[in-house]
Amino acid sequence: MRYISTRGQAPVLSFEDAMLSGLARDGGLYVPETIPQFSAEDIRALHGLSYEETAFRVMRPFTGDSFTDETFGDLISRAYAGFGHAARAPLKQLAPGHFLLELFHGPTLAFKDFAMQLIGQLFQEALTRRGERVTIVGATSGDTGSAAIEAFRGLDAVDVVILFPHGRVSEVQRRQMTTPVEANVHALALEGHFDDCQARLKDMFNDFAFRDEVRLAGVNSINWARVLAQVVYYFSAAVSLGAPERRVSFTVPTGNFGDIFAGYIAKRMGLPIDRLVVATNQNDILHRCLTSGGYVTSEVHPSISPSMDIQVSSNFERALFDAYDRDGAAVAQLMTELKSGGFHVSQGALQALREVFDSGRTSEDDTLATITRTLTQTGELLCPHSAVGVAVAEAQRDPAVPMVTLATAHPAKFPDAVERATGHRPALPERMADLFDRPERVTPVANDLAALETLIRERIAQ
Ligand SMILES: *Cc1c(COP(=O)(O)O)cnc(C)c1O
Repeated sequence: MRYISTRGQAPVLSFEDAMLSGLARDGGLYVPETIPQFSAEDIRALHGLSYEETAFRVMRPFTGDSFTDETFGDLISRAYAGFGHAARAPLKQLAPGHFLLELFHGPTLAFKDFAMQLIGQLFQEALTRRGERVTIVGATSGDTGSAAIEAFRGLDAVDVVILFPHGRVSEVQRRQMTTPVEANVHALALEGHFDDCQARLKDMFNDFAFRDEVRLAGVNSINWARVLAQVVYYFSAAVSLGAPERRVSFTVPTGNFGDIFAGYIAKRMGLPIDRLVVATNQNDILHRCLTSGGYVTSEVHPSISPSMDIQVSSNFERALFDAYDRDGAAVAQLMTELKSGGFHVSQGALQALREVFDSGRTSEDDTLATITRTLTQTGELLCPHSAVGVAVAEAQRDPAVPMVTLATAHPAKFPDAVERATGHRPALPERMADLFDRPERVTPVANDLAALETLIRERIAQ
């Protein structure tokens, strides 16, 4: 299996090399050259399997000869051993035909653990075999950073540097990043928004001298291995609900488009997914784009679902690449236009996107009302991101097709919003009960590439 860039100008890589490099050298994102196909029989064979067994079967065709079957199986087992639920991704029913896929039972209580815990294992295995060391950098709107730190803390082949927007992540998110004591963990509070963090991260990757000097590696949601790990729970959920005999739809609280793009891959592999619904908060560039074709950036409006507060949605480039019939030059052209504010998706490409994706947007008030209503009607306490998903799903759902809404974080990660909606402050699970007592370690940094690179050089030299 080989991986190509969405901008058509970077070397073709193996799974392992695409994983270790993150962003392609032409600024594009790696995608598999072809999509492995699952027949109805292959899908039927997943009934009754554990999450780990399902993960092995779904991901194996994408990894080529990077890992032996035995090693890959072991790494998957290790990745999910620390989850607090035997099903890993349990389904709960909210209403007739409406289900919630709980993706928050990992060590940092958000769905990003599914990808990050696995990628930690895969990196450790690959780097140890090669006798190499890398600096992992990530930009986070909150959940990626803690998930990355949790996955890489204490690994000797890796430094992990996380940029988060100063003052714009929740206290639980911040503390999950700033309290680990391991010397290879570096949490940096950048003066700016998440989009600034993401832009500086891209700048560092595009500074090839720096990139090679510190052996930069990326585990942001642009990393193909992360997308791949997320494909698995679309299969496990659809199979639980009767695939391949029954179609299912998914609604996904969306920011960087990584999670929903994994659903798109599952559909392309042959999983009978009817609709994939992009749910956004008031930062609705994706909803506007799918509605009007115009992908036009504006200011970020901080919301109660901060992990979705973005204006540039990185993984959307992968969907555009397919919508433009894999024309890397056309995608590169759109991304150049984006630098000066935005672009218009061609009529043909917009039609291709709409064949797969629906979209909806939820206001702050409606998000809070959804948390309140869902608790009253079902006893389920939603985090604000999951509530955006549930609100959009309820508005758009086709009663003939079961809808699965992805619950992307545990309510205790966003206690202020949940308390506002319900009067009830959700408690952290037992294993993190002392989070607020642990000392924090964080370095402030200006929104400036040179300052950032200097700081990283100093930190990893120690
Ligand atoms: C990251 C995140 C999202 C958005 O996921 P994308 O893959 O970036 O679209 C939604 N909810 C929560 C809780 C998250 O952490």
